[in-house]
Amino acid sequence: MVVIRGATTIPCDNKEEVQKAVSELMEAIENHNNMKSSEVLSIVFSSTSDIHSYYPAKAAREAGYVSCSLFSAVEPEIVGGLPLCIRVMLFTEKDLVPKHVYLRGARVLRRDLGKFNVAIDGPAGSGKSTVARRLADDYHILYLDTGAMYRAVALQAIEAGVNVEDEAAIADLMRDVKLDVRYENGVQRTLLGERDVSEDIRKPPVSMAASSVSKYASVRMKLVEKQREIASRMSCVLDGRDIGTFVLPEADFKFYLTASPEVRARRRYDELVAKGHTVDFEALRDEIVKRDEQDMNRKIAPLKQAEDAVLVDTSEMTIEEVVAAVKKRMQEKI
Ligand code: C5P
Repeated sequence: MVVIRGATTIPCDNKEEVQKAVSELMEAIENHNNMKSSEVLSIVFSSTSDIHSYYPAKAAREAGYVSCSLFSAVEPEIVGGLPLCIRVMLFTEKDLVPKHVYLRGARVLRRDLGKFNVAIDGPAGSGKSTVARRLADDYHILYLDTGAMYRAVALQAIEAGVNVEDEAAIADLMRDVKLDVRYENGVQRTLLGERDVSEDIRKPPVSMAASSVSKYASVRMKLVEKQREIASRMSCVLDGRDIGTFVLPEADFKFYLTASPEVRARRRYDELVAKGHTVDFEALRDEIVKRDEQDMNRKIAPLKQAEDAVLVDTSEMTIEEVVAAVKKRMQEKI
């Protein structure tokens, strides 16, 4: 007897979604294990307690599993568990090495079977970092803030008195820069040599300078290499300007968040004021617009939506709504 495991998620609780997800999962299990439905002896399904609309076993029967025994059960409610999830255990007497299949949002359950990356791009203040942090927490994966790396280079230049508009001088500086990211209790710390600059890089003058240094190939190539190296080792959410288009064009999930300049400036303003900075709202809005322009119009890897990225306009949405919308898309995509 061989046992094959699998799981999938649905974006919302209704009969059609359960039917669709179950037949997609069963088909994937058959394909991966090179078997037919007639070779299945029995299937046990479990679904999370937020699914009330339909029995997965019934959906499997309708999908062609007519002769095997089928059973559905409800799982206990687990704090922090993956919502709207259907799990399966399939028994067969066929002689095979089982290939377990995890689809859609359920891929996060078995990262050992394959890592995945989430790319979140968009302009300043669109909500990227908050959403990325939340996804990373909820799916227990790493959050890589790529903007922090550009900010660290900018900080180094400012402190060394190097003009950020001087490409050759920045290229020189890049030869010696000792930039690193480390994680403390899952929180990214950005380091220049041994010095932790995670707070200093958030100071207002660093933002525009980061945008300036980020136009240069000498800066981008070095940082992108580091980002790709981290993303190749583990599942992570990366936020930035060019993740979906340039850093990881093959990312499994891609989102492009945006919002009106007014709303974005307001969010940044509130954030900075909460941290004790004194800021002029108009000046901040102008700076954000200028930074967008610079980021969108540079030659290498400009800020733009990847063709296959899901666009989310967050202007009228709360952060909870944005997180829910992004997760919903992840739960419905294979
Ligand atoms: O996201 P954050 O505001 O921290 O980014 C600072 C600057 O770094 C951006 O304005 C952009 O010019 C640059 N950046 C980039 N590519 C990324 C992330 C940030 O060019 N992937």
